[in-house]
Amino acid sequence: MDCLFCKIINKEIPSEIIYENNAVLVFKDAKPVAPVHLLIVSKKHIPSVDHLTSEDKNLVGEIFLVAQKMAKEQGVAETGYRLVFNIGKDAGQTVDHLHLHLIGGEKLPWA
Ligand code: AMP
Ligand code: ZN
Repeated sequence: MDCLFCKIINKEIPSEIIYENNAVLVFKDAKPVAPVHLLIVSKKHIPSVDHLTSEDKNLVGEIFLVAQKMAKEQGVAETGYRLVFNIGKDAGQTVDHLHLHLIGGEKLPWA
């Protein structure tokens, strides 16, 4: 499938991998908007939150628990961080494969 994040998951395209388990892959965003900017990506190809079904309930829980673990490991759990899903055109989603942004490490502006 011609999907950038599927290729990263399959290690066909290199990335700075931070963590991996059977459900998700975590890697550094190539264009970080803050000192900490990770992407928590489902290994299953799902285009966006808008395409989730009840089958994906465990996966969604796993994504949030991994985000919490990454925040701790990256040292931003205490100072705070932001979790973002961009969905569709108006939100500026550029990669149509489910991913949660974990952003932190400085005071974050609210648009
Ligand atoms: P979104 O705009 O929510 O779809 O987020 C896509 C994110 O993927 C952006 O923040 C990009 O900087 C990031 N990105 C695109 N290509 C790569 C890549 N090859 N490796 C790491 N991050 C990437
Ligand atoms: Zn994909």
